[in-house]
Amino acid sequence: MTEPIPPGTDALAGDPEVAALLAAELDRQRTTVQLIASENFTSPAVLAASASVLTNKYSEGYPGRRYYGGNVYADQVEDLARHRAASLFGAEHANVQPHSGASANLAAYLALVEPGDTILAMRLDQGGHLTHGSPVSITGKTYRFVSYGVTPAAEDGSGERIDLDHVRDLARAERPRLIVAGTTAYSRIIDPRPFREIADEVGARFMFDAAHPAGLIAAGVHPSPVGVADVVTLTTHKTLRGPRGGAILCREELAKAIDGAVFPGLQGGPLEHVIAAKAVAFGEAARPEFKAYAGQILRNAVALAASLAGEGFRLVAGGTENHTVLVDLRAFDPELTGKQAQEVLDRAGITCNRNQIPDDPRSPFVTSGLRLGTPAETTAGMGEAEMGEIGSLIARVLSSRDDEAAIAEVREQVRTLCAKFDPYPAPLPGAPVAGTLGSR
Ligand SMILES: *Cc1c(COP(=O)(O)O)cnc(C)c1O
Repeated sequence: MTEPIPPGTDALAGDPEVAALLAAELDRQRTTVQLIASENFTSPAVLAASASVLTNKYSEGYPGRRYYGGNVYADQVEDLARHRAASLFGAEHANVQPHSGASANLAAYLALVEPGDTILAMRLDQGGHLTHGSPVSITGKTYRFVSYGVTPAAEDGSGERIDLDHVRDLARAERPRLIVAGTTAYSRIIDPRPFREIADEVGARFMFDAAHPAGLIAAGVHPSPVGVADVVTLTTHKTLRGPRGGAILCREELAKAIDGAVFPGLQGGPLEHVIAAKAVAFGEAARPEFKAYAGQILRNAVALAASLAGEGFRLVAGGTENHTVLVDLRAFDPELTGKQAQEVLDRAGITCNRNQIPDDPRSPFVTSGLRLGTPAETTAGMGEAEMGEIGSLIARVLSSRDDEAAIAEVREQVRTLCAKFDPYPAPLPGAPVAGTLGSR
């Protein structure tokens, strides 16, 4: 059988070291279960666009206003991407140049506030992101961040929700210039409207960081912050299933400030090959199949959560309404850390990441939790039945973590499961004639 290999790697026959690593990575993605909530499998079309000759092009500036010649096609590609983004999300303006979600957030801050200004955002250990003011991030060094968190855990699962009373109290006391909503580890819907009301009350701008739910928002299965928040930042590679990158949506009134903050404020030349791939992804997300896909992401997350709860795990916030499941490992095994769990699951072919849970007694490097997500394996075609099976496999590995035979057995079950849900069953564009890459 011809092994599918990444696009363009046929041209890598002259560099067997890199070719072999890419082939091995493709094999890893196809034979292990991908449960990292911020990851996905892009389509072959997205892969092809991001491996295109636009990587050769310098396009500093914006369509029609570039600093270099030869941008006739780059202009059309970027215009297509920003029009598709604006239309997909119902936004007045889209900037598709941010290299990543972090760059998009930095650009939004640059456009909306001054160094030293107060920004109200969610604490990292409660589900926020590094770029929401962590002291190790440039954001925390440049702005004065004040942080809100979640309500205390409750027996019946009704706790660990964003504490809007805390947000309001802090906003009144601290008078921030900007309020940020959006999370990296939070399994509940975030309603943007109460944040808008609080921002209006204290005269702050409101930014919604939709890095995680962007695809769910595009599909209409998560409330849209577009038109509610002043600025919406997002990544294109998480639930949106596009290439690695960021984007910013805003009203026309802020378009100039946002564009100027991205370039020349923060970045040099845009990655037009990635922007071409973003255009492809926005196009894919506008199709009816994508709505169905997003609905399945949610059903799969609920099924995974139910399976894990049945195995004796405590779910942070009592369950999920989005693509993520946050597991508190302590009820299952008080000795088991997130770090150990992640490592032993990796050996069994189950890929996920450790994560702090709210008020975690352990450090961010060790943690007491795991963050799981369903976007990638939903793309690969898995449904609720497979999620139930994966929940059981996770419990098996974590309860027999010193039993090499049990881990090896789960590794085989994972391999069998993955063979039925191959994200790249057909040879990818640019795949070589069999054998040109040699054996691996
Ligand atoms: C992932 C994420 C980001 C950053 O995205 P990168 O592309 O990794 O820079 C920003 N904010 C939130 C809430 C995220 O989850």
